[in-house]
Amino acid sequence: MSSNQPPIPGYIDYQRREFCKDVKCEIQTNLDNLQDAKEGSASYEEIRNICKTDCRYTTYQFHHWLIEKGYLIVRSKI
Ligand SMILES: [Zn+2]
Repeated sequence: MSSNQPPIPGYIDYQRREFCKDVKCEIQTNLDNLQDAKEGSASYEEIRNICKTDCRYTTYQFHHWLIEKGYLIVRSKI
């Protein structure tokens, strides 16, 4: 999730992989266990892409997780 909007004062932006880490998505666990795979490296990106397209969690679950964690889903007026 990326945005050019500055964060709303008093709020923080969603951190990448936060959901997968919190629900202990296996793919992300593998990623953390990967030795010498750094962000940006081929093997790292390969695994990370699995979650992008093929995460075993659904957007529905993700959406509910966001609400549970107190996230607001906002959009610019413009
Ligand atoms: Zn995942």
